[in-house]
Amino acid sequence: MSFVAAMMLATSVPALAVTATDGTETASVYAPVAEDTVSYEPQALEVSEEAEISTLAAEAYDVEAAPPPIVVEAPSGGSVSIAEGDAIVWPVVSWEKRASGFGPRSAPCGGCSTFHDGIDFNPGDGTPVMSIADGVVVLATENGGGLGVNVEVQHNIGGELITSSYAHMQYGSIAVSVGERVTAGQQLGLVGTTGQSTGPHLHLEMFGGDGVRFDGFAWLSERIG
Ligand SMILES: [Zn+2]
Repeated sequence: MSFVAAMMLATSVPALAVTATDGTETASVYAPVAEDTVSYEPQALEVSEEAEISTLAAEAYDVEAAPPPIVVEAPSGGSVSIAEGDAIVWPVVSWEKRASGFGPRSAPCGGCSTFHDGIDFNPGDGTPVMSIADGVVVLATENGGGLGVNVEVQHNIGGELITSSYAHMQYGSIAVSVGERVTAGQQLGLVGTTGQSTGPHLHLEMFGGDGVRFDGFAWLSERIG
């Protein structure tokens, strides 16, 4: 604080005083002062009448109106506004190790569905699971039924509400809480095999405001390239 105050004082000293040749000790403005004991008068900045106020021509730049933020109502997390994020990332590093794609399939277990409403990544037990984009955590539970340890994050993608759901993670691995803002690539938990799962893998579901699941692999591939 005292340094800033000294700087303000120093820069407000008239140029004449600084260049004075009478030996005046002008450096005294830097002398250490005890904080809380010195009060400075507000400094006025004098600008000569010839000073040019530079203005930016309106046509010199374009303003692209940003889409309005999406407000998410997270249970017990209150309402959180999420701004649009640009970055999209894979939820695991070894994303190419895919176990099962989106769509019809033969049920892999007794109670498993014949329609796979997510995509499975198989990067190995304990691999960090990351948020695919900036967003807000709307669900973080160890009791997600068939989904086991499950985290849901809502995103603002181009003004559209998109939810990503990360399932079957390890017990005790959830690294976020409901209502928390997360960034693309932020760790949510670790790959596990909780809930209705036949082995360690990440089951990722994605859906829009209508709740209808879509093919997250195609969606991510399209955006990440
Ligand atoms: Zn799955």
